[in-house]
This record gives sequence, structure tokens and C-alpha cells, in this order.
Amino acid sequence: MARRPLAAVRWLAPLVCVVTVALIVPARPAEPLSEEVAQDRKVITEVKEHSQALANLTYLCDEIGPRLTGSKNLRRANLWAAERMQDYGLVNVHQEAWEMPEGWERGPATARLLEPDTGRTLSIASYGWTVGTNGKVQGDVVILKASNSKELEAYKGKLKGAIVLTRPPVEKLPPDDIVKLPQTDPMPPVDPGMRRNFGEQRAFMKELNEMLANEGVAATMTDAAKPYGLLVTTGGWNGKDRPSAVNRIPRLFVAHHDYAMLYRLASRPSPARTRLELDVRNTFVPGPVAVYNTVGEIRGSDKADEIVVVGAHLDSWDLGQGATDNGTGTVVLLETARALARSGVKPRRTIRFVLFTGEEQGLHGSAAYVERHKEEMARVSACLAHDTGTGKVIGIDARHRPILQPLLAQELVSLKELGVTAFDTPFIGGSDHASFERVGVPGLLVRQEGAGYRLNHHTQLDTIDRALEPNLLQGSQAMSVTALRLANRDGMLPRDKPTRDPSPEE
Ligand SMILES: [Zn+2]
Repeated sequence: MARRPLAAVRWLAPLVCVVTVALIVPARPAEPLSEEVAQDRKVITEVKEHSQALANLTYLCDEIGPRLTGSKNLRRANLWAAERMQDYGLVNVHQEAWEMPEGWERGPATARLLEPDTGRTLSIASYGWTVGTNGKVQGDVVILKASNSKELEAYKGKLKGAIVLTRPPVEKLPPDDIVKLPQTDPMPPVDPGMRRNFGEQRAFMKELNEMLANEGVAATMTDAAKPYGLLVTTGGWNGKDRPSAVNRIPRLFVAHHDYAMLYRLASRPSPARTRLELDVRNTFVPGPVAVYNTVGEIRGSDKADEIVVVGAHLDSWDLGQGATDNGTGTVVLLETARALARSGVKPRRTIRFVLFTGEEQGLHGSAAYVERHKEEMARVSACLAHDTGTGKVIGIDARHRPILQPLLAQELVSLKELGVTAFDTPFIGGSDHASFERVGVPGLLVRQEGAGYRLNHHTQLDTIDRALEPNLLQGSQAMSVTALRLANRDGMLPRDKPTRDPSPEE
């Protein structure tokens, strides 16, 4: 924009202009936007002015609902997402099937205190892909304190029909954003003075689970470890294991306040007894069951054979609506697709959008995707993923690949105005980008502010009222610009071996 000359010197204008240009204005006139920045602005504006992110999230949560892997809701979500992709002008929109060993349906789960006879019912939820109780069962609540095989010996022959607590309630519930999910496996109370390595711990957990199954315990219980009576769920299967054959014990999360009560009661010296009646009705759906990843793309131009994958998982747990895990990532991905397709930018590489499934049970859909496309992995520049809820995007985790940090900081200049500035944050595994990382493709998860994610996800409070619309837009803008820049740079992202292990942060 030019400045208007002062009236008093208007007659001098031509001369002033010449002098100004020659002497006063720095040698470089106000820099015009580079072509790259101009394109960034286009997609940022497209999101700002025409976002469908919240409307999509509302439909996904309220009209499709939670999307448990293998469920009919998830199938509907696949079809809906493909329709959205087609509407937005993506090409090669299709579903890619993979197989899960068995489906699973959650039934009602109740627990009633029989002794002491206070009439109290407990708030419980099954781990996914575990068996039910096969009718009503009654059992004594037993605290198992063992951290090695020798200590386990003491319980042999004594646990038939028992309801087993394997660790004390968490002592202090951390505030909101740092509440952690409990371990997937019932963990023995670990002596803090004793350092054991992960392998030993896993081996012991396996031994413990086998022992509990062989003893014929009625169920195991775990503290949900969240405040406000929230329940939680997790669970899954490994590879081709049939979960019904492996997960032979009903495994239940108990709301923290109820778990703490049970633990207190069961800690009383004998002859005090603590007895419960359980009725947990879960159903396995005989497999293999076909599940689908939904795929669509924007074809590249001169480098169309090379690919930037933008990923998020469409499946969710089933206690809430799957709003922030990962409805938000799903609609950010769709909005990114829409903005890039509609704003008329022409990426050089192909940008492929993949909505993965089976993420929650062990990254199964993305593992299947990587396996199916293994010939292509050498031509995939990166997998960029969004999967930590509704918080503002503040960075891209690249600490595990130091070579990428300066490169991203330099390339993604337009992200600064969106508040995205951190490129040296530690790798968080646990989402689909990790499946790409495993075969050497840079897996880049966007780093987000907490915004209640740790509190809400996997609980009955993972509902759409938790979602923050401005952050859905900001996330879509950040993802669009990043995908476009990665698609347009001269080279693919370098993939020299990381000099640091991609070890999970938590
Ligand atoms: Zn997730």
C-alpha cells in the first residue's frame, strides 16, 4: 500500500517519489507476498470463511454417534466421510478393507455390594474386547499384592470366584489436563525402590493374567483414576489373536470413588468380608469382521507419484460420543481436504487423506494401511496426524527427527501467525503416525494444548459440548498449510535415521 503525500508538498510529488524510492525507502521495496505465502493465505481464508468443521462434528457425534471398531455406527461414518470427501472434490475416494479377528458389543454392566449390606451399587465399565460374567455372579473382593512370581505363589489355589483388585487406588487425582489413563493391564503394585525393566514387567503381567485365568477368578477391577465419577475404557487385541480366547477374565474399570471404597473395605482384617454381585453382559461377534479405512486424495501435479498422508482416526470408544477422540481430528482432516480442494491451490505431490479405524484397539487400521501400501512407503514424504482433542495446535512433534526441526520452522512460516511455533516437542506415540514411523516414514503428530483432553477422552464425557470451534478452524488451517507446504517443497522430507529413539513421552 502506498502512502498519500502531504498536501504542502504535493507539487513536489514526482520528485519526492523519485527521491523516496531512491534514497529513503530501503533498497528492497515492501516485499510482495511470495507465491508460497499467498497460497497459504488462500487456504487459511477458505477455512476462516467457509468452515464446515463444527457442522460435520455435530452430525458425526449426534446423528452417527460413537464409532466402536467393527460397529454399524463406524460403517455409517465411513460412508458419510466418503460422501463428504466426494462433495469437496477429492478424487479416488474409496474404502480399504482390513480384517479384525472378532467384533465386540458392550452390554449392561452392574455391580452391587452384598457385604457389607449397604445397598450400594458401583459405577463400572468393561474393558473393550473382554468377556462378560455369563450371568449374575457373586464373589469376595480380594486384594492381590504381588510384584514377582514368588509373591504370586502365595495366592495359588485361593482365588477361585474372587473379584481381584491388583493395585491400590491412585492417591491423588491430578488436575484436568494431566490425568493419565490407567494402564491397559492390571499392574501389580510396584515397589518404588525396585527398578525393573519394561520387559520384565510385561512378562510378569502376562504371568499374572494367566494365573488369574487359571485360578478362575470372577473378575478383575481397576481404578478408573479420573475425578467426578468418570468412567473410562480401553482394551483391544494383538495382531491376529482372538480376543475372546485371550481376554478370558471380565475386566472392569470402577469409578475412582467406588474403587477407593472397595479397597478400604477389602483392607479390613478378617473376619470382615467384602462381597459383590456382578452382572456384565458383553458379546463377541464371530470374526473375521471387515473394517474399513476411508481414503480420498487431491492429485499432485509434477510430483503426483509422491504422497503426503494426512491422517486421523475415525473410530472411537463408546462411552461418550467420540467427540474429542477423535471426532475433532476427523473433522479437521475433512476441513483440511475441503479447504485445499476448494481454494484452488495446486499441490505438486499428491495429498492423501486417510481416516483410519481400529486405532483405539492397537493402531490396527493404520498398520493394515502401511502393510497394504508397503511398496509405496518410499514415496510417502510424511504422515501428518491430528489426534489429541480440541486444543489449539501449537507445534509439530519432531524432536525424534532433529533434521526436520529447522526445516519445518523455516518452511512453515505462515504457521507463526496461527500460533504454531514448536517443532522440537517429543514424540508421542499411540496414534496412527506411529505405524508410519515404524517403517521409516516421518510420523508427525501435531502438538496441541490440553483443553481437557486428558480428562475427557475415553470417558462418558467425550461429548460434542467439549469441542471448541475456534480451535477446529485453527487446527484445519495449520494442517492445510503444513500439508500444502510438504507437498510443494522441492524434495520429500529427509528421513535419515532419527538420532533419538522415538520413545513415548508418557
Ligand atoms: Zn485417539
